[in-house]
Amino acid sequence: MAWYPGARKMELQPESDAQAAINPTQFIVHSIAAPWSVQRIYEYWRDSTNLESHFGLAYDGDLGQFIGTETRADANASANVRAVSIETASNLDHSDPWTAEQIEQLVRLGVWLHQRHGIPLRICRSEADPGYGYHGLFASWSVGGTACPGPARIKQFREVVFPEIKRRAEGAPEEDDMPYSESDLKRIIGEAVASPGVRDTLSWTTMYFLKMALSGNIPEDVSLEMRQELEAIHRSLPKWGN
Ligand SMILES: [Zn+2]
Repeated sequence: MAWYPGARKMELQPESDAQAAINPTQFIVHSIAAPWSVQRIYEYWRDSTNLESHFGLAYDGDLGQFIGTETRADANASANVRAVSIETASNLDHSDPWTAEQIEQLVRLGVWLHQRHGIPLRICRSEADPGYGYHGLFASWSVGGTACPGPARIKQFREVVFPEIKRRAEGAPEEDDMPYSESDLKRIIGEAVASPGVRDTLSWTTMYFLKMALSGNIPEDVSLEMRQELEAIHRSLPKWGN
């Protein structure tokens, strides 16, 4: 039994205890063709059908886990013996794209599945090939084929979700990380100010003030208003640990 720490645990019984153990090697994403909350998805599995997934994801990024990832779930036909699955809230004919919140959660879960279970960072090349996929990728993953999760989400899966899982799992920094240290920035800006290439007055002035704000070394002869402005910028800068 493995429970993803990024999800709310909403254990589904009797399936969680009754179903067989699996060694997960695939991750398969679905759209549930309903604009449901995690609670509603849970109730659907509990009360209406046995074709549950391990996870449920609402439009706002709320994520629930119903079954441990080393227990079989039944949403993927022939792949149930090896796949971790997720149902994602969608419109009634699953034609809408995932929200940004859903994409972020899919990426984080995908990275965790690689780290926790060693699912390889590729899109499945055959129905039994370890990797990442979406429900309609192989006909044997459903009964009689399926359009799930819909064309817009298949495009997002191939162009955004899977590449981002791969990028992060391979250790790329978060996009909002500062790629330069403070000393790098001081050097780059200092060189730009000194450069004869900076002929545009506005960009030279911008660089010059940036340099002063970064260093906190503000000349005596600037106006009080300017000094206060530069000191405020300097105080608001992140404190890098070089
Ligand atoms: Zn599906």
